[in-house]
Amino acid sequence: MTTVTESLARPLRPALLAAARSPRLEQLVSRAKPTAALARRFVGGNDRVAVLPVLREILASGRYVTVDYLGEDTTDPAAARATVDEYLLMIADLATLASADTTPGSARPVEVSVKLTALGLTVDPDLARRGLREICEAAALADVWVTVDAEDATTAEITRTIVSEFYPEFPTLGLVVQAYLRDSGAVCRERSGRRIRLCKGAYREAADVAYQDVEAVNASYLGSLRELMAGTGYPMVASHDPLIIEAADGYDRPADRWEHQMLFGIRDDEQRRLIDSGSAVRVYVPYGTEWYGYFMRRLAERPANLMFFLRALTERRSR
Ligand SMILES: Cc1cc2nc3c(=O)[nH]c(=O)nc-3n(C[C@H](O)[C@H](O)[C@H](O)COP(=O)(O)OP(=O)(O)OC[C@H]3O[C@@H](n4cnc5c(N)ncnc54)[C@H](O)[C@@H]3O)c2cc1C
Repeated sequence: MTTVTESLARPLRPALLAAARSPRLEQLVSRAKPTAALARRFVGGNDRVAVLPVLREILASGRYVTVDYLGEDTTDPAAARATVDEYLLMIADLATLASADTTPGSARPVEVSVKLTALGLTVDPDLARRGLREICEAAALADVWVTVDAEDATTAEITRTIVSEFYPEFPTLGLVVQAYLRDSGAVCRERSGRRIRLCKGAYREAADVAYQDVEAVNASYLGSLRELMAGTGYPMVASHDPLIIEAADGYDRPADRWEHQMLFGIRDDEQRRLIDSGSAVRVYVPYGTEWYGYFMRRLAERPANLMFFLRALTERRSR
C-alpha cells in the first residue's frame, strides 16, 4: 500500500538519484553539519577504528555483518589502490572479530562488500580485477566472505563477467542482482547455484533496462527470488520490505542455506525479530567519509528519511 508521504516523495526520487552523482552538490551537502549528522544514522563510522565496536555489537546480537568501505566511481588509480589497502586492513580486523564455522558450505559471519568502480573499474577493468583478486585472496585466508555490489546498469555486464571469471578460484564470491533490471530473473536462474544477493536496485535507470513502477519491481523480485530459492546456492534476501521478507520466510529452506540482509540503521527491531524467529540476518555496514552517494540513495528510497532530512535543515535555518 502506498502512503501519502510516499506518493508525495516519489516524484523526487529521480532528482535525488541524479543529485547523488553531482560533485557540486556533494561538496555542498557533505559540508552541511545537519546532513553529516543525519548520514551518521546510516554509516557505521568515519574510519575502521570507529566502526569496529559497531561491528562487534552487531555480531554479539547474533547477526552477521557485511562491511562496505564507502567510495565509488574512482577515476584515480592511487585512490583505487588505497581502497584495496583499506579492505586488506579491514579483512585482517574482521578475522579477529568472529570465528567462522569452516565446514564447507556454512555461512561466514563476516563479509566485505566491494564496489568495482571503487577499485577503478571505469579507468581500467584490469585494475579492478587485480584489486578484487587481492581482496579475495586475503579474505579466503581469513574465512571472510566477499560480495561484489551492483552499481548502475552500465557496469552490470562487466561486473557479472568479472565475478564469473573468479568462480573457479573463489566459488563463494557473491554477486548482487538488482530486481529492477529486466534480466534479473534470467540472471538468478543461471546463477542459482551461487551466492547471490537479491535487492530491488538503488540507481536511476532507463525504462529499456529497468522496470519503473513499484509493482513491476516487486513482481520481478518475487520471480527472481523463486529462481534462487529453487537452486543449490545461497540466496541473500536484501530488503526491508515486509512483502519480500514474508515471501522469503514462506520458503521451506533450511535457515543455514540462505539469509535476510538489511542496511545498518534501518529496521533494527525487525532484524532482531527475525533473529529471534530463527532466521539468519546480515547487516550491511558502510563506513568511511565518502558517504554522499550512499546517503542520497537512502533519501531517494525512503520518504521518511527525506522528511527527516528536510526537517533538520529547516530547524537549523530557523534557529
Ligand atoms: C544488504 C543490502 C545490500 C544492498 N546492496 C545493493 C547493491 O549492491 N546495489 C543496489 O543497487 N542496491 C543495493 N541495496 C539497496 C536496494 O536496492 C534498495 O534500494 C533498498 O534496499 C530499498 O528497497 P527495499 O527492498 O528495502 O524496500 P523499499 O521498496 O524501499 O520499501 C518497501 C517497504 O519496506 C518498508 N521499509 C523500507 N524501509 C523502511 C524503514 N526504514 N523503516 C520501516 N519500514 C521500511 C516499508 O513498508 C516500505 O513501504 C542493498 C540493500 C540491502 C538491504
